[in-house]
Amino acid sequence: MGRPLLDLIASARHREAMESECIGTGLTTTEEYLSYLRISRPEASIDVSGTCSARCPSCPRGNTRNMRRNGCMSADVYGRVLGKLLDEMPHLMNIEFSAWSEPFLNPELAHIVRMTEERVPCTIHTNLQHAKFLEGVIEAQPSQLVISAGGYEKSYEENHPGAFWQAFLANTELLRNLLRRHRPKTQCTLLYHVYRDNGRRDLDAMCSLAAGLGFQIYATWAYLNPYDKILDLCEGREIGGAAAKVLEKLPWSLEKSLGLSRSEARKPCLCQRIFPIINSDLSVSLCHTYYNPVIAGNFLEIPLSDLVKIRHDQEQCRRCQAYGLHRLDLEVLLRKYPASMMFYECVPGRMNSC
Ligand code: SF4
Repeated sequence: MGRPLLDLIASARHREAMESECIGTGLTTTEEYLSYLRISRPEASIDVSGTCSARCPSCPRGNTRNMRRNGCMSADVYGRVLGKLLDEMPHLMNIEFSAWSEPFLNPELAHIVRMTEERVPCTIHTNLQHAKFLEGVIEAQPSQLVISAGGYEKSYEENHPGAFWQAFLANTELLRNLLRRHRPKTQCTLLYHVYRDNGRRDLDAMCSLAAGLGFQIYATWAYLNPYDKILDLCEGREIGGAAAKVLEKLPWSLEKSLGLSRSEARKPCLCQRIFPIINSDLSVSLCHTYYNPVIAGNFLEIPLSDLVKIRHDQEQCRRCQAYGLHRLDLEVLLRKYPASMMFYECVPGRMNSC
């Protein structure tokens, strides 16, 4: 029998520091300590809303014509989705709400969260533009609430057309008050997306705002989503004006990053851990980084094992992997190629937390 594991590193934020400490004390990975990255962590993504009031150019809502899926998933239908999912994936670790839409536009979100948390943790991703159902949701205690913002005051409204700074400000204050009143288990994180124009003074201001509200803040690089657009570029197709403008604002070089990700082309896909991707109309998408293709019409009518087989046969995966897009994750690339100069000078010296 092998020696028992001594340490399991479960923190994403402190993983690198903790791993360095383990190595420094002479521990051997997999024998004496293990990072959570080496453990299977299946997650699913369910779009319970299908709509959003903002039209951010970095999202298909702002850069893709003919978005097909609209309209909320009812709590009744969601209950059936959840039941099937947990029957087929008893080790599911988390459910994400949602991929390309705003969960708080679903009037039954509190009920959906309560149903979910009885069986599996969930994470809500929101722009916090809509507070009508906020108190009910906080009372339902989602495990995580991730609030996205790509700027402060002027740069916020420039990077999120259709979203309003004053609404964001008012709703963050309301959230702070609700958290004080109800004291839920919910972990709230402000996820700040860094573009070329908002990485210094605006990030500092957002850090101060987050500190005043008592929220933790995490700065990350803005991307052009969905990856359909980047695949279009790689394959020589037009991406449209809105997406092209986002590329000009990214604080990192797509060309250099693609050079690095292409050198990883033979490595496994980083995205398949999150599956299935269930849309509000019950259709199933290939993965959470692409808007297309849809690989099945109704999640409730097809066994998960068949969905996985269909996914393995996708031509799109071969095209994506040919350019290494399945490895285009800046945090992963930066860890492997720290001297790669992928980033422009506008990137703040300190990313991650303030
Ligand atoms: S290979 Fe590309 S298209 Fe296929 S699941 Fe991974 S990221 Fe998505």
